[in-house]
Amino acid sequence: MLRIRRIFDDVLPANRETLEQVKEILRDRFSQVSEEEIEQLGAKLRNPFKQRFRPILFVAKTLRSRVKGFAMLLHEPEIGFCFLDWIATAGGRTGGGLGGALYDRVRREAVDLGAGELFFECLPDDAEKCPDEALLKENRARLRFYERYGARPIVNTGYELPVNPGDSCMPHLVYDALDAVKPLRRAFARKVVRAILERKYSGYCPAEYVEKVVASFREDPVALREFRYIKPQAVKTAVDDRSTEQIALIVNDRHQIHHVHERGYVESPVRVRSILAELDKSGLFARLKPRAFPDKNIHTVHDADFVSYLQHASEAVPEGKSLYPYVFPVRNKTRPPKEPSVLSGYYCIDTFTPINRNAYPAARRGVDCALTAAREILDGRRMAYALVRPPGHHAERRVFGGFCYFNNNAIAAQYLCAYGKVAILDIDYHHGNGQQEIFYRRPDVLTVSVHGHPKFAYPYFTGFEDERGEGEGEGFNLNLPLPENLDGERYRKALGKALHRIEEFFPQFLVVALGLDTAKGDPTGTWSLMAKDFEENGRLIGTLGLPTLVVQEGGYRTRTLGQNARNFFRGLVQGHLKAVGNRQEPKVRLHGVVFRCELQPQDPERIRRLAEITGFFTADEVEVAVELVNERLAKGAPSGYHFVMAEHYGRLAGYACYGPIACTASGYDIYWIAVHPDYQGKGLGRRILKETERLIRESSGTRIYVETSQRVQYASTRAFYEDCGYRLEAVLADFYAAGDGKVVYCKSLI
Ligand SMILES: [Zn+2]
Repeated sequence: MLRIRRIFDDVLPANRETLEQVKEILRDRFSQVSEEEIEQLGAKLRNPFKQRFRPILFVAKTLRSRVKGFAMLLHEPEIGFCFLDWIATAGGRTGGGLGGALYDRVRREAVDLGAGELFFECLPDDAEKCPDEALLKENRARLRFYERYGARPIVNTGYELPVNPGDSCMPHLVYDALDAVKPLRRAFARKVVRAILERKYSGYCPAEYVEKVVASFREDPVALREFRYIKPQAVKTAVDDRSTEQIALIVNDRHQIHHVHERGYVESPVRVRSILAELDKSGLFARLKPRAFPDKNIHTVHDADFVSYLQHASEAVPEGKSLYPYVFPVRNKTRPPKEPSVLSGYYCIDTFTPINRNAYPAARRGVDCALTAAREILDGRRMAYALVRPPGHHAERRVFGGFCYFNNNAIAAQYLCAYGKVAILDIDYHHGNGQQEIFYRRPDVLTVSVHGHPKFAYPYFTGFEDERGEGEGEGFNLNLPLPENLDGERYRKALGKALHRIEEFFPQFLVVALGLDTAKGDPTGTWSLMAKDFEENGRLIGTLGLPTLVVQEGGYRTRTLGQNARNFFRGLVQGHLKAVGNRQEPKVRLHGVVFRCELQPQDPERIRRLAEITGFFTADEVEVAVELVNERLAKGAPSGYHFVMAEHYGRLAGYACYGPIACTASGYDIYWIAVHPDYQGKGLGRRILKETERLIRESSGTRIYVETSQRVQYASTRAFYEDCGYRLEAVLADFYAAGDGKVVYCKSLI
């Protein structure tokens, strides 16, 4: 069995492994692609806007993670089209419908992105243009395949013109109108062709060639070749909508055994059944079985002593009985008593969360579910939902309570954070005191909670605004306590603040602690959120565009639970699709950036990492960048190299290196400006440049020079300097290579 999955970057080890396999297929199937281009694949995915095409990679994998085929789609958000760069199967196998499944997925994506048309190249299927017989056969099979979708080569244009004399076998440009029957307009086609030739073939097609081909699109609409292989009435243009990736759903299969029958104990098995009944109808989910994970994953979050207490206490309670704490160690937290009913107070925060025979096995299985969901995210799935009970967000490092035993969301977050920063967003009606306490001193997991104010809502003692984290973790906990009466609109104001903080944190993963007790009529809450509010909240959260793990927490009004959950996920998926198909990177105002000029001993390594991850510098250039830092560290100001380091919550977000130009009265050179991909498109480069100019002015500098290349790749760099008031001063033709001149910009400070 194969599944098709989108690979977003090469940050996760699973994705890196997948990318290596993709590269192998590329080398095998496309001998004309250069090794340099193949090696750039990961950087392109990480920094999608670098080449003004957003690459989207789909892979078809077996369950054992072998890549059997892939498709690389390029999305052009400004003009609004998609270009299918590569589609290939391992060993060139065309049988088994794998190529078809990948092409269906690509078409679906193009439609979801709002790109009305899809273009790609195909080698010719005419004997006179393609003398190689085996290749000709392959080309014919390919064009026949695409005709089934109505996609055909564009004709009567100069797209097949040889670039160099003697070039043969030039590809056709093929057009797929996707699910619509519409003519291809000339003006649009010209923009598309220009973008393809200038960006994709920037190093290959000279400017005159591009102009000639663009001008050769004379007919309006542009003509497509007649059907050659199949009858036009056999064409199926419909876009397959089953190919959208589903949310992994992992349900605690042992939750029913945990059933506390005491009156008023609203945390009951019917909750999961109510939610499931509605989810099953939605078609959004793919059910997966929970896998077993070892206890060590729990011990990273909960004290081993606490875990072992829960297990043994649970085993020791007679069948059908409940153990309730009734005294608590306010004065002496270090001396656990012996008597079982007294000892339970040592590990618990309230009097209504009992330990019984089934509490431990049910809660333990809930942890497996959360970890299975986290594993799915690490395997590259964009969304997973652990539908579990008992809930977990009130469980702290060494205490349980509030119907919670193990903190499922914190355990999952801890598991994920080995691969990147995690933000936990708790949208239960009650404060998420558990993960707050667990991550309170850590800057790598941001905890945010939107909840009823503790002056009237459980857990009463935590959840205040001034709890902001401690030590290293200061600033990485955000509480947004809200008033007793609240509707959806006012709720979303607070949610907006929460999401803003998360955006500024630049997490790799989002964990949502989903409480549905914010709903109107919930027996444990006081708010009045309606079904449509849950959809809207989901949509807002989805627009973060992050890999998202949702863990079920509270929610007790069984009549509306299912509908609200379904609406939440519907919104989440829509928001996410919109975010990943966004025309531009989100424009975020960056707060909390701090500049410094003094270098620190760890800066050479930090600058190396930054320069590498931008994907903009060659290996030699990275070495030079690091050398300059070392030079400055060794010799101080006499080295002639000065630095502006921009830090965001302790992380190097970007930097500039500059220095006085020898033998000039007051001229300065800016040698480098680099911005981490996470921070690009947020105005940081501009701020670093401003700060640099300020320092140069302070040192009585009057003129600043910057140099860059004439190549297309540097178009955005040149535009950046021009926008910042730099004037083109000189062009040294063919400086770096033939056709690649050096461009010198200058800004006068007086
Ligand atoms: Zn709750």
